[in-house]
Amino acid sequence: MFYTSTRDNSIRVTASKAIADGISKEGGLYIPESIPALSMDEIKALCSADYKERAKKVLGLYLTDFTDEELSYCVEGAYADGKFLSKAVAPVVKLHDNVSILELFQGPTCAFKDMALQILPYLLTVSAKKNLKNKEIVILVATSGDTGKAALEGFKDVEGTKILVFYPVDGVSPMQKLQMTTQEGANVGVCAIEGNFDDAQTGVKSIFTNQEILKKFEENNLVFSSANSINWGRLAPQIVYYVSAYCDMVNSGDVKLGDPINIVVPTGNFGNILAAYFAKEMGVPVNKLICASNANNVLTDFINTGVYDRNRSFFATTSPSMDILISSNLERLLYILCGRDDKVINEWFSSLKQTGKYTVSADVKDQISSLFAAGCCDDEQTKKTIGETYKSFDYLADTHTSVGINVCNAYINASGDKTPVVVASTASPFKFSKAVLSAVETEPKEYADEFSTVKALEEISGLTAPEQLSALKGKAVRFTKVTSKDDMAAVVFDMLGI
Ligand SMILES: *Cc1c(COP(=O)(O)O)cnc(C)c1O
Repeated sequence: MFYTSTRDNSIRVTASKAIADGISKEGGLYIPESIPALSMDEIKALCSADYKERAKKVLGLYLTDFTDEELSYCVEGAYADGKFLSKAVAPVVKLHDNVSILELFQGPTCAFKDMALQILPYLLTVSAKKNLKNKEIVILVATSGDTGKAALEGFKDVEGTKILVFYPVDGVSPMQKLQMTTQEGANVGVCAIEGNFDDAQTGVKSIFTNQEILKKFEENNLVFSSANSINWGRLAPQIVYYVSAYCDMVNSGDVKLGDPINIVVPTGNFGNILAAYFAKEMGVPVNKLICASNANNVLTDFINTGVYDRNRSFFATTSPSMDILISSNLERLLYILCGRDDKVINEWFSSLKQTGKYTVSADVKDQISSLFAAGCCDDEQTKKTIGETYKSFDYLADTHTSVGINVCNAYINASGDKTPVVVASTASPFKFSKAVLSAVETEPKEYADEFSTVKALEEISGLTAPEQLSALKGKAVRFTKVTSKDDMAAVVFDMLGI
C-alpha cells in the first residue's frame, strides 16, 4: 500500500513516510492509493476479537511497511489495559430504540482525540526510525481544544520528540485550557494565539511549508511532523473504532451481520467523519454518514449545496472543538470523489485560499448527496437536547455529542429512516461542565469556579467526574504565553533554542 498527495499525485511514499512527514511538501494531504477491503467473513471474525485485535487487523491493511511486531508494539502500548477507563476502549451503549452511542472519550484526556493520539507517538517513532535517521521530531499542533491536550499527553517525554501546541486564546473551555497549561513533561510547550482555530491551523500549515524555516530545521537536525488530523497517522486509528462499533452492534443484536447502520458524527475538521467514510468504503455496511455541525455550519451548507463558502460569521459556541470554518480533511474526500484528480483539487483549494469559496462539480455533489446527510443546531438547541436526553434516557451527553444527537433526531424525523444508528460521542460531559450543568439543573445558580461546577454536575447526575479532570484542581500553571498569529514561527524557534 502506497500513499500519494491530494495536490500532486505523482508522489508515491510508504505509510511510514507519510506518517513521519505529516503533510506532503507541496501542501497536499497524504492519502492511500486505494482503500483496502474488509470482507464480511473478516468482519464476522472481528466480532469475536477485542479492540486491540480489531486495531491490528484494520491498521495492518493500511500500514503495510510496518512489521507485525511493530504494529503489535504500537497497538499493545496505546490501548494497554488501564489506559482507557472502559475495558472495551470504545464501548457502544444503547440510548433508546435503535439509537446507540459510541463512547470515544474513555481515554486519558476525556475526548475522542485520545483514540488516535495515544497510538500516534508509537506510529511516529516507528516511522521515524525507518525514515528520519537520528533526527529530532518537532510536533506542531493547532488545536480547537482537545487535540492539544491529547497530543501533549501522548507525546510527553517521548524520546526524540518535542511538541508545541497553539490554541486560540478565547476559543477553548476553562477545563481544556487548564488541561493544557498545566501539562507536565520536559519536551512540551503550549502557547495561546490571538485568533481563532482557523488562524492557528493556517499558521501551523504555513510554518510546515516555509522553505526558510525548513532550511533552519535541516541545519539543526530537526524535522517537523504533525499531530493534527492532516497526519494520516491520526486518521487510520480512527477507522478502527467504526469497524469495532459495527462488530459490537452485531454482537448486541442491534444489527444483523451484513445489514447497514447509519453513523452520526459531530464534525469540525471533517477528520472523524472521514474515518467513518473509510470504514464504509472498506466494507462496513453503512447506509448514511450524517454530518452534524454547530452554528458554524459551513459543512451543512456544503453537503446540501455543493458550494463551500467560508465567508460568513464565526461563532464561539458551547461546542468549541467544532468551531471551525476550514475543514481540512474534506480535501481527502473530494480528492477521492473527483476521481483522484490533483489538478481539480489544486483549483478548488486555491480558490478557497483566494476567495474563501469553491464549488464542486455536479458529479461530486451527487456522490456527496448519496453518501451523506447533514444538519446543524445552535447553542440553544444543543442545550435543549442535553436536557431532553438526560431526562428521557438518563444519559448525560456533552455539548458536542448533543449536537450529534440533535441532528440525529432531526434526520430520523425528517426521513423516517429506520436504520439502526450510532452517534459518535466525542467528549466527557465533565469537560464542558458549565454548559452541560446549565442544561440539566432545575434552578440556575452561580458557581465560583470550574471545579464547583464539576462538583454540582456530579451531585445532580450521580456520576463521578473522571479523575484526570478533578486532579487539575490546584495544579500549577506552567504556560501563560500569548502571541499574535504572525509570530508563531518565532515562538517555535524560541522553544527550540534555534
Ligand atoms: C475534535 C473534536 C470534534 C471534531 O472532530 P473533527 O475530526 O475535527 O471533525 C468534535 N468533538 C470534540 C469533543 C472534539 O474534540
